[in-house]
Amino acid sequence: MDFQIQNKVAVVTGGSSGIGLATVKLLLAEGAKVAFCGRDVERLTAVHEALKHEFPSVESLAYACNVLDAEQTQAFAEAVHKQWGQVDILINNAGQGRVSTFASTTDEAWREELDLKIFSVIHPTRAFLPYLKQSDLASIVCVNSLLALQPEPHMVATSAARAALLNLVHSLAVELVPIRVNSILLGLVESGQWRRRYQQRTDPNQSWEAWSAELAHEKEIPLGRLGRPEEPARAIVFLASPLASYTTGTHLDISGGLARHV
Ligand code: NDP
Repeated sequence: MDFQIQNKVAVVTGGSSGIGLATVKLLLAEGAKVAFCGRDVERLTAVHEALKHEFPSVESLAYACNVLDAEQTQAFAEAVHKQWGQVDILINNAGQGRVSTFASTTDEAWREELDLKIFSVIHPTRAFLPYLKQSDLASIVCVNSLLALQPEPHMVATSAARAALLNLVHSLAVELVPIRVNSILLGLVESGQWRRRYQQRTDPNQSWEAWSAELAHEKEIPLGRLGRPEEPARAIVFLASPLASYTTGTHLDISGGLARHV
């Protein structure tokens, strides 16, 4: 499929792992110039070297940046603009979930979670906005979770923060027009986050395949498995691309049927 984004400039926050990395790869495969960030410099550099090898004819930029730091994010935006003189697509993906119930979530943890889910979108959006405004097909895609609509008691703070983000995306879509702003709502997708939880499994002999199949069964995912990072990546790039030119302020469900609402 031709996503019509050749030579466009795309930015992916949290592009050094999981869904962000799969999105970076798809954007590069489609001929876009891609800048991505993460905090771990070593991983960022290693991933960038591998990408340059895999996509030798497309330009890319890796930049160490914590999106919760407004100044670092501003510097990232300026570096991208200095390199290519334009920004067309922003993918707000950086982040991770928090497992905690109401009883086990401290005030500090609540603040950290709300901070992560909201400012990981506010800082990059604000920093890249002046450049996006100069593009004639600008779009923003936020990676969100199905928890925004379907909260889970064991992820109480993440669920509430995700609902706030869903709401914010709608406001941004109205205020930033003609820039399109959309999101995807994820169920469970194989990535760094789940690999980290697998490391803490009770049975050390259990394989990843068996562990993730059991998880999908426990969660009653209708498609019977976790998603693969490439699956949300395709939805993200579609929403960001001119193929979704009449779609803004909405979300795509990428949960394997986990959504219970109609
Ligand atoms: P990974 O852990 O595989 O990747 C997360 C990426 O974000 C890494 O590149 C990480 O790099 C980066 N990152 C995290 N925090 C920051 C930060 N403050 N500033 C800059 N970069 C940061 O996770 P996933 O691919 O699973 O997650 C991607 C997004 O999808 C996240 O927002 C997550 O919450 C969301 N999501 C994922 C689900 C899933 O099942 N996988 C379900 C629902 C939502 P570094 O650590 O070096 O900073």
